[in-house]
Amino acid sequence: MPGMRRPLYRDDALVLRVQKLGEADRIVTLLTRQHGRVRAVAKGVRRTTSRFGARLEPFSHIDVQCSEGTSLDSVTQVEARDMLGRRFLTDYPRYTAASAIVELAERLTPVEREPAMRLYQLTLGALRALADAERPGTLVLDAYLLRAMSQAGWAPALRDCAVCGEPGPHRAFSVPSGGVTCLNCRPPGAAHPDPATLDLMSALLVGDWAAAQDTEAAVQRECAGFVAAHLQWHLERQLRSLPLVDRREPA
Ligand SMILES: [Zn+2]
Repeated sequence: MPGMRRPLYRDDALVLRVQKLGEADRIVTLLTRQHGRVRAVAKGVRRTTSRFGARLEPFSHIDVQCSEGTSLDSVTQVEARDMLGRRFLTDYPRYTAASAIVELAERLTPVEREPAMRLYQLTLGALRALADAERPGTLVLDAYLLRAMSQAGWAPALRDCAVCGEPGPHRAFSVPSGGVTCLNCRPPGAAHPDPATLDLMSALLVGDWAAAQDTEAAVQRECAGFVAAHLQWHLERQLRSLPLVDRREPA
């Protein structure tokens, strides 16, 4: 309705995605603290005179004000909290890990405006950890993937049998069964990961970084493979950015 003031809201947000719209505008996908995932149009931000265009880049942590629209909300103000992406823009492994993180955050919030505060906190923590560069980026990524999937109700069983609950530890691991299985429940084609790999997955799930970082590269690679397979099984298709993650060891 012309002249009617649209309701405004203000929130903390992470920029998940930025798409061009016409000559001067952008559509931004935000994961907000209070309002869940929101898509909003940012008008005129591609003009060099735009006051907040530069703050709306992927991986930015912002304080945003939007006005509610009938189809899309509109961004009316942006303050930068931390331009996290700038701190790994030229670091390809971290950049690709961040891309997989925001892609999963978007996949796990299929419904707009459905509050997802724990996922928001988890995503912010992971992007900050990538920006701080104190931990290996691939471990930060795999910890995020495991924890985000667990929050979605898809934690892999890592100790007791995924099928019958028989107390572990067990050696067989089956993605379709939901994790480790006892000998009775072990399906054909089950894998037998290095026990250290299962320990690493447990350490990443609970955030035991000392134990996680004290693992061999081969164990970290095996862990990454199981995490990716577990993710693909539950999401039914792989994240586009996951195969691009550079997992070579730093020279
Ligand atoms: Zn069993």
